[in-house]
Amino acid sequence: MFKVAVLPGDGIGPEVIAEAIKVLNAAAERFGFTIEYKEALVGGAAIDAVGKALPQETLDVCNEAHAILFGAVGGPKWESLPPEEQPERGALLPLRKEYNLYANLRPAIIFPALLDSSPLKNSVLGGKGFDILVVRELTGGIYFGQPKGIYQEEDGRKGVDTMIYHEWEIARIARKAFEAAMVRNKRLTSIDKANVLNSMVLWREVVSEVAKEFPEVELNHLLVDNAAMQLIRDPLQFDVILAGNMFGDILSDEAAMLTGSIGMLPSASLGDFKGLYEPVHGSAPDIAGEGVANPLATILSAAMMLRYSFRQGDAAKCIEKAVEDILNEGYRTADLYRGEGTKVNTSEMGDLVAERVRG
Ligand code: NAD
Repeated sequence: MFKVAVLPGDGIGPEVIAEAIKVLNAAAERFGFTIEYKEALVGGAAIDAVGKALPQETLDVCNEAHAILFGAVGGPKWESLPPEEQPERGALLPLRKEYNLYANLRPAIIFPALLDSSPLKNSVLGGKGFDILVVRELTGGIYFGQPKGIYQEEDGRKGVDTMIYHEWEIARIARKAFEAAMVRNKRLTSIDKANVLNSMVLWREVVSEVAKEFPEVELNHLLVDNAAMQLIRDPLQFDVILAGNMFGDILSDEAAMLTGSIGMLPSASLGDFKGLYEPVHGSAPDIAGEGVANPLATILSAAMMLRYSFRQGDAAKCIEKAVEDILNEGYRTADLYRGEGTKVNTSEMGDLVAERVRG
């Protein structure tokens, strides 16, 4: 039995989570496993109910679960709260910290049926879609290194951030990236800035050492500035991209933008014992409650949960194939609709995918 903590959150969060659960139930039926869901409050919904974005009762539910399925949090109603009490800072950052979720996996997939959504020319995309997985280190590097701050000096103020990577931090994220490459096309591109940063010289050395444990994976190293260019020049060359916290932050957004549709992008944040799965998009307060949100990012996040937390690769592939088929058949939620095909709402899209998964 797979135990899942379900945290729908705010805005369109509950709407898209409901569709992901429909699809998970269909996969469980077809592939013969059972999932136990426990729902808990998070974000603005939790602030309204109990005064805190991540209440202890929610952590208790997460503690007992193998994986967390997260919708989205935030909205105008809570924007005037002090920053550390706001839904995103008050819920997501503490969850990452609590479960040491150091590996952020963000696939940037452009399905062939959605090539026109990409800002890239068809000639660059070669008439095909692309499928890149960005593996970003999430709990170290320059965002957390000490000293950090703004200090008064005799000649004015000084802003300081410190980029530190320990060997063990690099090795564990590298292993996650190599493991992911092993179940994909066995190609890994490690991003660094080894020409100017000492932490990145070590990054390159340690990644090359870990590579010896994965002789089947072809590894190459790319400087981050070149990587930013190559992503636009020829995204089809990439399979798995491994990067530290800051470079991964920037490159994963660049890769996401190349797909052109925020409602399609899933993500996973993994530690050694637990995984948190969520769509890349936010709570979209502008369309919340209208039943028009695209649930596919959350459905694809649920597929990642089956793959990485529950080792149900076939069920994950089945969900991904169902999504691709539905798009090929011309079904579109409002955000993807360009005047052709069949426009469907959130729940119709969930039904269509669940139906295909059920077989
Ligand atoms: P957003 O991702 O919520 O929305 C950006 C735009 O994309 C909006 O026009 C929205 O309607 C559209 N959109 C997003 N997801 C969609 C979907 N599934 N289907 C169709 N259209 C979709 O980003 P934002 O507007 O910058 O932020 C809104 C709120 O969400 C803020 O409070 C922000 O703090 C929060 N937020 C939360 C998370 C999270 O929970 N992880 C992430 C980003 C933003």
